Amino acid sequence: MIVSMKKNATPRDIAEVCDRIRSFGYRIHAGAGDERSIVGAVGVGGDLSACIDALTAMPQVERALPISAPYKFVSREFRQTRTVVKIPSPAGTIEIGGDSPVVMAGPCSVEGEAQIMETARRVANSGARILRGGAFKPRTSPYEFQGLAEEGLAILANAREKTGLAIVTEVMTDSDVALVEQYTDLFQVGSRNMQNFALLKALGRSSRPVLLKRGLSSTIKEWLMAAEYVVAHGNPNVIFCERGIRTFETATRNTCDLAAVAVLNELTHLPVIVDPSHATGKRSLVPAVARAAIAIGADGLIVEAHPHPDKAWSDGAQSLNLDEFDAMMRMLEPYNELWCEARLEPAYA
Ligand code: PEP
Ligand code: MN
Repeated sequence: MIVSMKKNATPRDIAEVCDRIRSFGYRIHAGAGDERSIVGAVGVGGDLSACIDALTAMPQVERALPISAPYKFVSREFRQTRTVVKIPSPAGTIEIGGDSPVVMAGPCSVEGEAQIMETARRVANSGARILRGGAFKPRTSPYEFQGLAEEGLAILANAREKTGLAIVTEVMTDSDVALVEQYTDLFQVGSRNMQNFALLKALGRSSRPVLLKRGLSSTIKEWLMAAEYVVAHGNPNVIFCERGIRTFETATRNTCDLAAVAVLNELTHLPVIVDPSHATGKRSLVPAVARAAIAIGADGLIVEAHPHPDKAWSDGAQSLNLDEFDAMMRMLEPYNELWCEARLEPAYA
């Protein structure tokens, strides 16, 4: 349930309301405190309608309403206005869900210093704000390259310092959260780990934002529930990433569910971006899907780009070379206007 307080409510009024909520057996949600006038209650408590009646009768309370969605804090019922996730970078704060779409780009895997530095410089020049690159790689085969681990993280951090780009990199297990946190600005949760609940809980305890990729065969509801894990454990900064799902189609590596962007924009206040690289598996299709993602109102893109895709250690077939990435960025410029229109609130519910 959410309780919104009257405008002139004091901290003492809020404390009284919290006590009342607790007396019915519910817990106060820590992550809800960022909006002073809203109190969130969760858990299995006593009589919900009696609790709502009691709260509504309190003079400091404006409104108390139950949230029907199973995902509470990520739902639009909880917060009507869109959340802007802020990512610190040496070049200033980057806003995802703010006034313009943000592009993250880089290779699938960190392969070495030279590869990352060349990529970072070029994608930054082309307009990317965040450098991607996996140091811990979730590979289908145990015989494939598994990533450079901490050495790869250090290479990314060095590129961050030299170029001013923020870093996004994947964390695969809860036991690596503390290590990855020392290097990254944004945690990536890969598709295969979307329902790794121990990982999601550990990320809930972190202060760094989380990019939550959609599971290979996950419904939108399961995806929202995964985000709820992170938020309910204390971290309100989650960004969704549509990266395609498994269907019967084989022409593309995955089937890009662009409608999911529009669905999420109705169901959640959190931002959503699209990964046209994993969604298609094919370099030639990436710019078209990127364009459609912007037009439908995605808050950004994460795109694989590599100096020599034919020599990439992973996902070369879907990686743009650095000239192609630049051309895509130029092609996307006029679509920013469409993006602004797509981001207008729907006129009907
Ligand atoms: C990746 O970003 O390189 C990756 C492994 O993505 P996904 O988890 O979406 O497959
Ligand atoms: Mn990849």
